[in-house]
Amino acid sequence: MTASTGPLRRVVIVGGGTAGWMTAAALSRVVPADMTVTLVESEEIGTVGVGEATIPSLLDFNRILGIDEDDFVRSTQATFKLGIQFRDWAQIGDDYIHPFGTHGRDVAGFSFHQLWLREAAGGNVAASGQIGDYCLSHVAARLGRFNRPVADPSAVLSTLSYAFHFDAGLYAGFLRSLSEAAGVVRVEGRIASVARNPENGHIDAVTLADGRRIEGDLFVDCSGFRSLLLGDALDVPFTSWQHWLPCDRAWAVPSTREGRLTPYTRATAERAGWRWRIPLQHRVGNGHVYSSAHCDDDMAVRTLLDGLEGEPLADPRQLRFVAGRRARLWEGNCVAIGLAGGFLEPLESTSIHLIQSGITRLIALFPDRSFNPVERAEYNRLLLREYDQVRDFVILHYHATTRSDSPFWDHVRTMTVPASLTEKLALWADKARLFREPGELFTPDSWIAVLLGQGRRPASFDPLIAGLPPADSTRFLTHLRDVIGKTAAAMPTHEDFIARHCAARTLQTV
Ligand SMILES: Cc1cc2nc3c(=O)[nH]c(=O)nc-3n(C[C@H](O)[C@H](O)[C@H](O)COP(=O)(O)OP(=O)(O)OC[C@H]3O[C@@H](n4cnc5c(N)ncnc54)[C@H](O)[C@@H]3O)c2cc1C
Repeated sequence: MTASTGPLRRVVIVGGGTAGWMTAAALSRVVPADMTVTLVESEEIGTVGVGEATIPSLLDFNRILGIDEDDFVRSTQATFKLGIQFRDWAQIGDDYIHPFGTHGRDVAGFSFHQLWLREAAGGNVAASGQIGDYCLSHVAARLGRFNRPVADPSAVLSTLSYAFHFDAGLYAGFLRSLSEAAGVVRVEGRIASVARNPENGHIDAVTLADGRRIEGDLFVDCSGFRSLLLGDALDVPFTSWQHWLPCDRAWAVPSTREGRLTPYTRATAERAGWRWRIPLQHRVGNGHVYSSAHCDDDMAVRTLLDGLEGEPLADPRQLRFVAGRRARLWEGNCVAIGLAGGFLEPLESTSIHLIQSGITRLIALFPDRSFNPVERAEYNRLLLREYDQVRDFVILHYHATTRSDSPFWDHVRTMTVPASLTEKLALWADKARLFREPGELFTPDSWIAVLLGQGRRPASFDPLIAGLPPADSTRFLTHLRDVIGKTAAAMPTHEDFIARHCAARTLQTV
C-alpha cells in the first residue's frame, strides 16, 4: 500500500464550538477503532456561543447519536419549538407563524394549498380560515401547547413537527462528554501555524503556540469565522451575499423569563434588521441583527434593550459577520463545517442544520488516502447548492415586504434578487405553483407559510381543481380544521409538558 492508498488513520477537528463537537460526536460513532479523532480548541479564543434555535432535522441527528431526548432537553435547558412567529415583516402590525410540519393533506393529487386557495378566493372565509388553521404545529404554537407526535399516520397528532431551543454552551458541553466517552481526544491550545505538504498542497499538521505539532490525514475546519484552514491556509475565496443580505452585526443578551413559555421563536422586524426572542427553561435569549450601513451600534443596542420583556442578565455582546460562503467547502484534505464554511443570518435557524448536513455528507463520502476528486466535487456540489437554496428562502423574508419606513426596507424591497428566487416567485405569483428542488431543505409548506404570511397572494390557483366539487372540499376543510383545533386544544401546555417530562434539574441564570 503506498502513502496515497488505503484508509485514513488520523482525523483532526480544528475548533470546539457547536460545529466541532457535533462533528466529533458523529464521527466518533462511525470511524473504525484504529482511526483516531482529535479535536483542538482554544479556551482563550472561545466560541461564538449563540445559536439557540434549531429546526426539526436535529431530531435525526440526536437519534443517530442515540441521545435520549428528555435527557438532552434537561441537560441543555431546552424548550420545544413548533415554528417561528414573524412580526412586522410584510408591514408594521402584521404577524404570522412559519410552522414546522404540513398544511392539511393533499386531495386527489392536488396540493392542499390549492384547495384552500380556491375556497378563500370564493369568499368562503368562514370555511377556509387561515392556512395556518390546517397545520397542527401552527395551531398548537398559537395556543402555547405541546405534545410529541404519535407514529400512527391516521392520527392528526402524527403531523406535529418540532425542534428545540437550547443553550448553545450547554449543548457543546453535552456533545463533548458524549464524544470524549466515545474516544475523541481533546487538545487545548491555540493553533499558531498550519503546515502544508509541498507536493500536493494538503495540510500535514497544525502547530500550537506552545510548539506542539498535531499531524493528521483529514482536517475538519470548525474554527468559526476565522476559517483558519480553508480560508487562511488554503486560500479558498469567500463569496459575499451582503448585497442581498445586508445585516452584518448583532447584539445578543440573555434576560429573565417573563410570562408564558412560548413554544416558538419570535422574529420581530425592526427599521434596519430584526430582533430574535428564544425562550429557554432558565432564561430568554435575545438578539438584534442589523445592517451597520443603516443603523449605528448605539441605536442597535438600545433597540435590543428597549424590546426586552424581562431584565437583562448580562452585558450585551456584539457579533460581526458577513452573509456568504466559501467557493468550495472541501479542498484537498480539508472540509470546512460551520461558520468556517459560511454564514447565513439566523432568521430561519439554519446554521446548525447546515453543520449537520455537512457532517452527514462527509460521512456519506468519507475519503481514503486517495482523496478521490469525484467525491470531493460531489460534496461541494451538494453543500453549495443547499447553502444557495437556504439563502433564497432567507432573502424572501426581506424582499416580499411592503415596508417603506426606512432606507433599509427600501433597499431590500426593491433589490434584484437571485434568478433562482425570481423564478420561484413568478411560478407562485400566477397559479401558486411550488416545486421542491432535489436536496432542498425547505418544503413547499414552508414556502407557502412565508409567502402568504408576507402577503404574497397568488393571482389564481390550479385550473384543474375545477374537477373537484366545491361542496366536497368545503366539507373536507371544515372537518379538518375542526379536528386540528380539537387535537391542539387537548394537548398539555408547553410548561406542563416540560414539567412532567424534562424539566432541567438545576436552574442556571446565564
Ligand atoms: C448572531 C448569531 C446568532 C445565531 N443564531 C443561531 C440560531 O439561532 N440557530 C442556529 O442554528 N445557528 C445560529 N447561529 C450560528 C451558530 O452560532 C453557529 O453555526 C454555531 O455556533 C457553530 O459555530 P462554529 O462552531 O462554526 O464556530 P465557533 O463557535 O466560533 O467555534 C470556533 C472554534 O474554533 C476555535 N478556534 C478558532 N481559532 C483557533 C485557533 N487559532 N486555535 C485553536 N482553536 C481555534 C475556537 O476556540 C472555537 O472552539 C447564530 C450565529 C450568530 C452570529
